[in-house]
Amino acid sequence: MKILVVNAGSSSLKYQLFDMDEHRVIAKGNCEKIGIGGFVTHKRPGKDDYAAEVTLKDHDDAITLVLKLLTDAELGVIATVDEIDAIGHRVAHGGKLKESTLVSDETLEYLYSIVGINPLHGPPAIKGIEACRKACPNKPMVCVFDTAFHSTMEPVSYIYPLPYEYYEQFGLRRYGFHGTSHRYVAGRVAELVGKPLCELKVITCHLGNGSSITAIKNGKVVDTTMGFTPNEGVPMGTRCGTIDPTIVPYLMKQLNVTPDEMDNILNKKSGLLGVSGVSSDCREVNAAADAGNARAKLAIDQLIHYTKKIIGSYVAEMNGVDAIVFTAGIGENDRKLRQSICTDMDFVGIKMDNERNAECPRGTACDLTAEGSRAKVYVIPTDEEYMIALDTQKIANA
Ligand code: AMP
Repeated sequence: MKILVVNAGSSSLKYQLFDMDEHRVIAKGNCEKIGIGGFVTHKRPGKDDYAAEVTLKDHDDAITLVLKLLTDAELGVIATVDEIDAIGHRVAHGGKLKESTLVSDETLEYLYSIVGINPLHGPPAIKGIEACRKACPNKPMVCVFDTAFHSTMEPVSYIYPLPYEYYEQFGLRRYGFHGTSHRYVAGRVAELVGKPLCELKVITCHLGNGSSITAIKNGKVVDTTMGFTPNEGVPMGTRCGTIDPTIVPYLMKQLNVTPDEMDNILNKKSGLLGVSGVSSDCREVNAAADAGNARAKLAIDQLIHYTKKIIGSYVAEMNGVDAIVFTAGIGENDRKLRQSICTDMDFVGIKMDNERNAECPRGTACDLTAEGSRAKVYVIPTDEEYMIALDTQKIANA
């Protein structure tokens, strides 16, 4: 079975074509600068990469190009589009939809209805789905939501301590994001520990340009750091994460800025970038810190500080932890940061083996547990696209 996974952003459309029988990606790429020019990269394992300037007016053009490349006599990997059995779409926000869902008129109507609470990521995801529907009207399509895995949270975790009617009127609640990644690595942890997820207490740390940490008890999410939007929790590349909420109206008055301008400060100018003044990219902030830049060091120390604080609180919330896992760009690659987070955590039963941590090859899953640690410690590369392909396969087959 072949599944195409599509991840549409406002000016980009990433794709991966999976051969599910062989559990491998047969082609992947990215259409960038949609609406403002156009550039495409197309990769096939073991073959030369292809990249070209193209004209991409909209997402329709992008998906037409993707299908053309996949079936191209020279660059393609399949003979015709018919070989694609189903298409899976990454959709950041599923609102009330608690699991991956077959695309129908009703699904699209619902996604349109929640654009108000998901103004950044909702419209491009819908455009991607509609473009695929136009190009392949009869192909089964599935939406896989970043929020879905977190839908098991109890009201005590997802209701904000605000007037209750705002939850009812505006859907103002914690939704949580990166759910597909948390679900994937939690599943892998269960395999590695050799116990079903429903018997484990796991903390998954997805630390990347956007970061979120999730507590999973007996297979259910009990808490996660991202909230109504992906700007809650630990500091991120350009997002502030959790701050005193009263700072927002105070700063708006001081700076005389509009809500949109304030939103831009909180989402685009804060976090690693805002504190360090160097970059939103953790590698660049690390390099500046190593070269003696005090604000860069503060930004990194802050990420460590907030992550430790969350892990401690999640151990308390679950009354223990069996495994903790690091994933995503920073979590998978930054050994020093992993070590700093796990230093002095033995009081909650977490001890990392620093040698194993230093020797773990990038891109592989490693057991980093030190002798005597009550909890297992892992690094596991995430694979959201494969998870989307699996859900799509399951639902399309059903
Ligand atoms: P993601 O959003 O998961 O793609 O992660 C992107 C983040 O991972 C960026 O901040 C990168 O700087 C960071 N990253 C990637 N490789 C490394 C590395 N070797 N050390 C530290 N951070 C890294």
